[in-house]
Formats: sequence, C-alpha cells, structure tokens
Amino acid sequence: MHETILEYEALVRLVAFVGIFAAMVRWEVAAPRRRRELGRGLRWTGNLGIASINAMLLRATFPALAVGLAMMAEERGWGLCNAIGVPRWVAFVASLLVLDLTIYLQHVMFHAVPALWRLHRMHHADLEFDVTTGVRFHPLEIILSMGLKLGLILAFGPPAVAVLVFEVLLNATSMFNHGNVRIPGAVDRVLRWVVVTPDMHRVHHSIHPSETNSNFGFNVPWWDRLLGTYRAQPVDGHETMAIGIEQFRTERDLRLDRMLLQPLRGPAGGDATVHRKNGARDPRRRVGREEQDRFRNVRRPANTAERVEGVEARQRRFHLFVTEERPVDRSFDHRGRDGIDAAAVRCGASSSARLRTSACTPAFAAE
Ligand SMILES: [Zn+2]
Repeated sequence: MHETILEYEALVRLVAFVGIFAAMVRWEVAAPRRRRELGRGLRWTGNLGIASINAMLLRATFPALAVGLAMMAEERGWGLCNAIGVPRWVAFVASLLVLDLTIYLQHVMFHAVPALWRLHRMHHADLEFDVTTGVRFHPLEIILSMGLKLGLILAFGPPAVAVLVFEVLLNATSMFNHGNVRIPGAVDRVLRWVVVTPDMHRVHHSIHPSETNSNFGFNVPWWDRLLGTYRAQPVDGHETMAIGIEQFRTERDLRLDRMLLQPLRGPAGGDATVHRKNGARDPRRRVGREEQDRFRNVRRPANTAERVEGVEARQRRFHLFVTEERPVDRSFDHRGRDGIDAAAVRCGASSSARLRTSACTPAFAAE
C-alpha cells in the first residue's frame, strides 16, 4: 500500500493540478463572474512562476514531505492515531478535519501577526481574482506552512492516504474557490454549506480590511461559521468590489521579482489592526496626486450594467473621497476626522474599515 502511494504521489498531484487548472480556466472563459481588466500575461507569469518556485523548493527542502512523513509515522507508531490504534476510517475522517482546521487557524495567524502578514499579503496583493491567485503564495509562507503540517503529522499521526487526499483536495479547492466563475445564487447558497465557494472566498480578497479578515477557510466553510469569521457577501458587490490590498497596486507590483521582495517593502500594512498598531502613516495622507495616478492604472471602468446597478454604491464612495489636493465636497473639509467617520458609518462601513475608506476610493473617483 505504502509503496503504491509513494510511487504515484507525485503523479496523482500533478494530474490533479493540471486537470483542475485546465477545467477552471475553461469555466472562467465560459462564465466569468467579473470582467477581466488586466492582461493575463503579466499576472499569470508571476503567479504561475511563483507556484513553480514553490513546487521545486518543497521538493528540495523537505525530501520526506507530508505523505512520506505520515508513512514513517504509521510504520513506527508515532502520533495519536497510530499510538491508540483507532479504526482506519475514523482516523481518515478525523485527519482530514484536523488538517483543515489547522490550515484555517494558520491562515488566521498569517493575518494577525505582522511578520507573518508580510509574507501572506503577497497572496492578497493580486489585483484580480482567478484560478492563478489560488497558487500565488510566497515561498517562505509555503515553507512555514509545510513545517507546521509536518509537526501536526508527527503529533496526530494521520494515515498517509489521508494526508495525500488532503494535499490534493487543498490544492483543488484553492483553485476552485479563487476561480473567477459565475455560479447561480441559489446553487451557491446551498454549495457554501459544504465547501468554500468562489463568492464566499472573494470576500476575503476585498480591499476593505474588515472583509479581508473574514472567510479564512479553504476547504470546508464550517470553521468560519463556528468561530465567527463568516461574512456572506462583500459590501461593494462582487462585480464592483476592489480586489487586493491598498499597499501594492501598480502593475509593476505583479512582476515576479517584486512579488518575492514584497515582504521587505513598506510597513506591515494592508490590515487595519496591524496598520494602526504599528503607527503607520494615516492612509488619507497617502492619497495624493501620485497615489491617485497609481490607483488609476488599475481602476475598473464599469460596464453599462454595472453603471446602472452600481451607481448608488459609487456615489457613496465618491462622497467619501477626501484629499487635501482634490476635495470633491467642501463640506467635508470642515468636518475633520469625525465627519469622515460619521459618513462612513452612514454608508455602512464597519469601524475597522473607516480609516481605509478614503484610501480606496480614488480607483472609482475618476469615473
Ligand atoms: Zn488570507
């Protein structure tokens, strides 16, 4: 059994990756959820380039890898499941759940700890959301994540086949839930009780920190629902919401070399709590002329349907657009911070998002 798993592990993973990737690309072309604004060339070169680096790095740094270590643990009786000898099917199901909960908790930690956020924010800095976003992770995050998984395997002793199934599943669901695919609302509502859907995970890639800090799950949606991090829909709507973080928004930031160096650049911003704790600059000060031009590079001009549907939402954002250089509503100038916060409250922004609201509006203000 073990020899068979070991022999076919790499092949199973490769076939699953290529098959699911190709299927998702076809689906994205046939039924896209959002209009694509950036060319695929630059984004895909960076995202698939970093995925290739990660695959090679893992093989080089962890020769045993997760499945190999699980086999060794089974043979030597290491870990809880192997030590107490639970039935195999119980160990199999429990292992999938424990591994998934661990990945969820790890994801929460990568958002909460400034040093870890520096690594993870590269995943969030993608300016669009499609199947390739699902494989875009910083190599150091991948190594840390694998280290944690290996530690869990030693402690919990999951069957090797459960680890293999989990690895393939995680890769597959990551590509699925980052897909720019349209799923009918009624189907999505049912589906998201059992698996994280693209509409559910897209909320996590919103520019609003309160939304970025929600929907951390990758496989099953239950952890978010149970632990209070579930958010059903983005406040700006799926088609008009801004994707990414405010920190890296130029096309240059999508280059592979810039992506690799992102953890070293700037403050550990892009997260409201971390941002303010570190005493980083007031986001409103950043929205100068230069910044507006950067935002303008990647703005999403709305199509006709979006203009009709989203006009009210954009008006709300427009009124929150306050800068020293280009005040659009003089009455705001005299209200100061509280005026902005009060306006944000009226528009339904959560308290953690208020400070950021003005920083993310220029993308739409030029329309
Ligand atoms: Zn995240």
